[in-house]
Amino acid sequence: MKMSAFWWDISESLTPSGKHALPKEVDFVVVGGGYTGLSAGLTIARQGRSVVVLDSGTPGHGASTRNGGICSAQIRLSHSALCAQYGEEFANEVYSEGITARLDLAKFCEEENIECQFQMTGRFTGAMNFRDYESQAREAERLNYIAGHKAYMIARKDQYSEIATDLFFGGMVREEIGGFHPGKFFAGLLKRTEEAGTIVLSNTAVHEVVDLSAAGKSVVTSKGTITAGTVIMATNAYTGTKHKVGKFLRKRLVPATSAIIVTEKLGTEKVGALMPRLRMFGNSANLYSYFRPTPDRDRILIGSRSFDRTQATGRTVAYLKLKLTHIFPELDKCDVDYAWLGNVGFTRAQLPVIFEHNDVYYAAGYAGSGTVWAHWMGKKVAETAMGTGNRTSVFYGPPPQSVPLYDGNPWFMPAIQYYFAFKDWVKIRY
Ligand SMILES: Cc1cc2nc3c(=O)[nH]c(=O)nc-3n(C[C@H](O)[C@H](O)[C@H](O)COP(=O)(O)OP(=O)(O)OC[C@H]3O[C@@H](n4cnc5c(N)ncnc54)[C@H](O)[C@@H]3O)c2cc1C
Repeated sequence: MKMSAFWWDISESLTPSGKHALPKEVDFVVVGGGYTGLSAGLTIARQGRSVVVLDSGTPGHGASTRNGGICSAQIRLSHSALCAQYGEEFANEVYSEGITARLDLAKFCEEENIECQFQMTGRFTGAMNFRDYESQAREAERLNYIAGHKAYMIARKDQYSEIATDLFFGGMVREEIGGFHPGKFFAGLLKRTEEAGTIVLSNTAVHEVVDLSAAGKSVVTSKGTITAGTVIMATNAYTGTKHKVGKFLRKRLVPATSAIIVTEKLGTEKVGALMPRLRMFGNSANLYSYFRPTPDRDRILIGSRSFDRTQATGRTVAYLKLKLTHIFPELDKCDVDYAWLGNVGFTRAQLPVIFEHNDVYYAAGYAGSGTVWAHWMGKKVAETAMGTGNRTSVFYGPPPQSVPLYDGNPWFMPAIQYYFAFKDWVKIRY
């Protein structure tokens, strides 16, 4: 078994060209080289401005090449919960922007010839009990009022047309959701970003940004200092506690770990028999699982919250394998070929954010659903920082609230996970 991401085993290059050194002065410095940072870099370079994207490690080796590749633009809060908290207009705008962002990603892949096996497969979300089924049905009805949504319910007696399991009490299909190969998408995005003139550098940690007022900003990095007109932070759930530059964001963004396993090759026939429509999948548990066929339809990938923090261990593998066999008992004996984990970032409101603080711009907080959002928000934060674009995002606003008693070390996460695990135990039984 490899304790590394399945998506890294590709022939496309996942690393920058390495042709450039740190420049002395640029219009924009983007901190973080995941989907957000590259998308921002690409948008800026195409406006003819000079831009450098700096990553403390290998760009993309944060969450952007470790994810499940489900392209949902999911919002953690349901439409009804958003309505109750913020009003219907805001809820509609949020869900509409999800549709726009997803279409924008599909258009980007097509127009730029990014061969990442992007497909609008639809997603089936299994209900863990009858109450969840009923609330999914109400949510589907609400979503269908917002242009672009195609949600409908599959009753339990019909669910074998979607998935060969008896675990769920039926579920909701959303046709407008899809999936891609995260590594191939990253490789394509990186190529286009560098071609546009963006300098992308690995192993260049940004320590601090010092404001020189009219003269711009002095960006202190592990490879020297660079002067920039504007700085964009795209460090998301990898902001960490090490560098001064992350101080403001880390009090407002909680990283949670998510882990994934990929089975041995099962054969396309077997995968097709278990998942006849080859969709993306999820369930309604509090510690929900996400799963899917791999793009070659030969294996199954499943992910969920992780109880390990830095590296997937046998415990994580056993936990995810158990989740897999709850869904497909016949996979009890199958081997696991890959296991890994990564960080996802949550704001207190569980909504993505774009904001400005002390003249530094930020985009973050996709709550585990950043394949669509990070690409979109990278573009939107760049347009906001440049003052271009017709319309900023609905997520542009004041900085998110800080989290009480928290400064970047999420000491409370294990307690929250055990609480949710207990709620799921109750959910399945009652
Ligand atoms: C296991 C897992 C499964 C997921 N599954 C899905 C899914 O199926 N669907 C979905 O939509 N989303 C999913 N996500 C979420 C999605 O991958 C992320 O939301 C998205 O990739 C975030 O991109 P990003 O560019 O904002 O951040 P990242 O890709 O995490 O990039 C941040 C970068 O910042 C760099 N950095 C940090 N500090 C500094 C510094 N001081 N100086 C320089 N660089 C710095 C880091 O090295 C890192 O490369 C998943 C995430 C994980 C971990």
